[in-house]
Amino acid sequence: MNVLTGAKRIVVKVGSALLVDQASGQANHAWLAGFAADAARVRARGQQLLIVSSGAVALGRRRLGLNRRKLDLPGKQAAAAAGQSILMHAWEEALAPHGIVAAQILLTRDDTEVRHRWLNARATVETLLGLGVAPVVNENDTVVTEEIRYGDNDRLAARVAQMIGADLLVLLSDIDGLYTADPRKNPKARHIARVTDITDEVDAMAGAANADTGVGTGGMTTKLVAARIAAAAGCATMITFGARPSPLGAVEDGARCTLFEPSLTPAAAYKAWIAGSLAPQGALVVDAGASTALRAGKSLLPAGVRAVEGSFEKGDAVIVRDQDGREIGRGLARYDAADATRIAGVKSSEIEAALGFTAGPTLIHADDLALAR
Ligand code: GLU
Repeated sequence: MNVLTGAKRIVVKVGSALLVDQASGQANHAWLAGFAADAARVRARGQQLLIVSSGAVALGRRRLGLNRRKLDLPGKQAAAAAGQSILMHAWEEALAPHGIVAAQILLTRDDTEVRHRWLNARATVETLLGLGVAPVVNENDTVVTEEIRYGDNDRLAARVAQMIGADLLVLLSDIDGLYTADPRKNPKARHIARVTDITDEVDAMAGAANADTGVGTGGMTTKLVAARIAAAAGCATMITFGARPSPLGAVEDGARCTLFEPSLTPAAAYKAWIAGSLAPQGALVVDAGASTALRAGKSLLPAGVRAVEGSFEKGDAVIVRDQDGREIGRGLARYDAADATRIAGVKSSEIEAALGFTAGPTLIHADDLALAR
């Protein structure tokens, strides 16, 4: 099966070089129209699509008359502030003829790396995808500082793919994949179609075939960093040539690309991360009914909780134990320890009355629970 037509949830990263017409400095509406048709086809197959789009700085430069100047960070931030709305307008205009509504999401690195923040961001993206909306993500350039910015959208796209459990990340590039050397300089350069392990040798190829065009920020090296982040999250990465009318359609028709294949699924990677990489900050002791439900793949509701141990925050990993002290699994708590204590034994419909707010009916959602073997 073609990876592109078989993926359930796809993140496509579109760089500034594709989005901005270099001669006029304006949004490349013709390219966007072609890509929108691609997007419509993907969605008509029942696949979910999230777009990570650069272009704010490049579009804003022109609007602010900063065309030729080399921009410092505040200059880039000012340009991004002016350009982001042009960028979104261009996406809305391109997607609207296909009946696709676009929604802007601006993220900082913390939103994808600090757990309680990405749980929030993830919930928003899930809601949008559930509503059939196309999220268009960019870095929140106007507020980030040099130390905390991604700076390139390749890595941002990989983090977003990880956050939402995507199974395919497509990086549209100015080159149709990874080569053993720079094909524009070395006629002996060979194209690599599949990578199953990003070794030092693969890294060395990327250094040699840096595909930086000077418009965007990422070259082949950052694409490999992105592919590595995605692979660890169980997500495949595809690098393909973007500057044609229908870049996804071209790959469906057999155009060249490089595919980085992960060794596990997004769900397995996520659960392995919860079970193995996070230090549990507390424990929930559950009754027999809840133990049976959890082992059958259900979520943990507060009603089944008998005791709360430790002082965990919302989003922290906690151990779930039965009343005999056996570990059932580990999961991410949707309420902190103090609130969990207040709602232990309480029906989900009464959470709001008990706390004055609700963060949903589950204390640990089944998706965030890794069962012990
Ligand atoms: N966030 C930047 C922008 O929208 C682009 C970063 C990148 O080129 O990867 O202009």
